[in-house]
Amino acid sequence: MEAFTYKRAEDIPQAIEAAAKSKTAQQGAQVRFIAGGTTLLDLMKLDVERPRQLVDINHLPLSKVEALPEGGLKIGALVRNADLAHHPLVQSNYAVLSQALLSGASAQLRNMATTGGNLLQRTRCMYFRNDALPCNKREPGSGCAAIDGDNRMLAILGTSRNCIATNPSDMNVALTALEAKVRIEGVGGSRVVGIHDFFLEPGDTPQRETVLEPGDLVTHVSLPPARSNSTQVYLKLRDRASYEFALASAAVVVETQGGKFSYVRVALGGVGTRPWRSLEAEKALQGEPVHEKTFAEAAEAALRGAKPQSGNAFKMELARRCVVHALTLATKSA
Ligand SMILES: Cc1cc2nc3c(=O)[nH]c(=O)nc-3n(C[C@H](O)[C@H](O)[C@H](O)COP(=O)(O)OP(=O)(O)OC[C@H]3O[C@@H](n4cnc5c(N)ncnc54)[C@H](O)[C@@H]3O)c2cc1C
Ligand code: SF4
Repeated sequence: MEAFTYKRAEDIPQAIEAAAKSKTAQQGAQVRFIAGGTTLLDLMKLDVERPRQLVDINHLPLSKVEALPEGGLKIGALVRNADLAHHPLVQSNYAVLSQALLSGASAQLRNMATTGGNLLQRTRCMYFRNDALPCNKREPGSGCAAIDGDNRMLAILGTSRNCIATNPSDMNVALTALEAKVRIEGVGGSRVVGIHDFFLEPGDTPQRETVLEPGDLVTHVSLPPARSNSTQVYLKLRDRASYEFALASAAVVVETQGGKFSYVRVALGGVGTRPWRSLEAEKALQGEPVHEKTFAEAAEAALRGAKPQSGNAFKMELARRCVVHALTLATKSA
């Protein structure tokens, strides 16, 4: 195994060129960027990822959180999860992001994990992490052991007959409710992709999780100008109070006027094959009275297209309650 380290802004094209030697930027890539390593090294130890080359990006100048002149925030891909969660501008203007980050993993992991790595962390489906068992995401065409197996933790929204794995990131759910954008540098130049378009549903190609191409380096995530009148809540329901992935979570950003919702964004975690923005829930809330009946209708709308698996039907009610409770918390002073 070879490892290369790049340190200066001028080195970014070289890092991209090195990674572009892979046929894919996704599962099975021969060349991989390494940031905090908390996902990648785990998967290499399990033999699930077997890159021939690692491109160490830790020293590239991508570790700043910057306020944008027109409002909004530019977050470098190497900003550590702990630093981002405790950044004063994140705490004051994007509280849902801070809450989501602090609900994830452990203090030690958050000190290592980066914004880019968290964005691209892999599913925790146990069959994906065991290379003795069939898994279409790990080995396309081999089958999906989870559909008739242990799928208690897995998805009920956005699933396909090929894969029902959940996107496990808490941060991604908050970024979805905040309508973040991802800046990518690649062999063909740079581009910006809205978070909603960045992640792909599994369909017939579960091995492909994002729009990234070989060589693509995530350099920043940006947030739109803060909504200073909004209330933001991230609620995570899980088997134990810390160091555990979500069974269901909800990120809500709301504004109210005269007892009605004037602005609403709702995203769900722990239930979708990708971070799940619920336009249906938002539609059910927008312009409607702040009332528990409205919350229940929104929660119902959010889960309408869900397809429970053999072991996770309980997530239907859990996710509904999660949405209702997050909205209740976000509007308690409305
Ligand atoms: C025990 C445990 C518990 C956890 N619990 C939670 C939890 O509750 N909630 C939660 O959200 N997460 C949880 N996590 C996951 C953790 O948040 C991720 O492992 C972490 O965020 C990954 O960041 P990293 O920088 O270490 O990524 P790495 O492991 O370095 O990289 C991850 C992937 O992203 C790619 N990559 C990294 N940076 C870039 C970039 N800039 N451009 C392109 N590709 C890039 C790498 O090639 C790799 O494929 C847990 C992890 C562990 C081990
Ligand atoms: S759900 Fe997806 S990740 Fe899990 S075994 Fe099936 S194909 Fe693999």
